[in-house]
Amino acid sequence: MKLLEYEAKSLLQSRGIPTPVQGGVVRRPQDLAPALKRVGKGPWVLKAQVLAGGRGKAGGVKIVKTSALAKAALAELLGRKLETHQTAGAALTIREVLIESAAKIERELYFSIVVDRREGLAAVIVSSQGGVEIESTAQERPEAILKLSFDPDSGLPDFKARRLGFFLGLPPERIPAFVSFARSCAKLFCEMDLSLLEVNPLALTPKGLVALDAKVVLDDNALYRHPDFQKKADPEASPAEREAKKAGLSYIGLDGDIGCLVNGAGLAMATMDTIALAGGRPANFLDVGGSADEKRVVEAFRIILRDSKVRGILVNIFGGIVKCDMIASGLLKAMARVKLGVPLVVRLEGTNVEEAKKMLSESELGLVPADGLWDAAQKIVSLSRK
Ligand code: GDP
Ligand code: MG
Repeated sequence: MKLLEYEAKSLLQSRGIPTPVQGGVVRRPQDLAPALKRVGKGPWVLKAQVLAGGRGKAGGVKIVKTSALAKAALAELLGRKLETHQTAGAALTIREVLIESAAKIERELYFSIVVDRREGLAAVIVSSQGGVEIESTAQERPEAILKLSFDPDSGLPDFKARRLGFFLGLPPERIPAFVSFARSCAKLFCEMDLSLLEVNPLALTPKGLVALDAKVVLDDNALYRHPDFQKKADPEASPAEREAKKAGLSYIGLDGDIGCLVNGAGLAMATMDTIALAGGRPANFLDVGGSADEKRVVEAFRIILRDSKVRGILVNIFGGIVKCDMIASGLLKAMARVKLGVPLVVRLEGTNVEEAKKMLSESELGLVPADGLWDAAQKIVSLSRK
């Protein structure tokens, strides 16, 4: 789960990491004056709070000197759509604007911590070429970037933090502050189970090092260890994805028209591939988990059917621990409760599959049984086109 800049900055502040003086987040024009007052004297920065970087270049970051200009800048930002090089052609609506004190920048540095999957460690990445797109620096001037990995169990050692600081060309008197910054960030990264912590730019100012921007991504699989964030709705999830999460189902909406209800992530992926091979396009990834009982199937059907593009549903369930006849009975009960209104093809495989097939074929609910995944995919593709 990605956090907005102001949420990421409040995490940094909770660890004593320096950020600009915060005036808070403004959602309505009338909240601007109190926010400016909280910061104190200008100049101020108004920053669009959207889940994408590259806001500066796209006009989402405005530095103003007077409150009249701040008012005009806010009016320009609130409600406007922002498209940056990171939004993949889409535009994000600006609903919140962060107000901060503007910093005097001497130098802009790049600092981030990532999971280094190849090494099985965490890694700090720094560059003296901060502020700009780090991707282009990595391609054009790889020597301007230093990456040092560290063991998350023991944290970032002082000597590595110092090496990073000297690589950045910081004057010796700035090194202790940098070491403390880097080690606090590393501690935050490990304790909060982050998959990314990026400060770009980390600004060198007359008042010292300041985290001018912050991007934090939490590892969804570790959210249960951080109840405050687990409760928070993922801002990037669609309503259907949120509902699925509450019901304990793994659901990701896609842009095709064939709904898939599958047990097991691997089987779900294979089902989507096979639908594509048969000439169709899946409307979603949905893993109902191992049990696939009546309640979960009802929930899953409801979530799939929220998507008005869905023109057919393929159920592909393997009865391993749960026997196929139990699944068939759950499926039939679920179908009696939810009005599908679109063709349904069912492929079951595993223990007691013969009994299950008999139950399905004897039912009068109009589902289409299939033999094998290929047969099922071809059937649903053809039925959904009728
Ligand atoms: P991003 O473009 O979405 O990464 O947004 P940033 O928060 O990184 O801001 C983009 C750029 O705006 C920074 O690289 C700075 O050059 C500039 N900027 C942001 N905050 C300040 C500030 O307080 N003072 C000054 N002078 N420039 C700022
Ligand atoms: Mg930035």
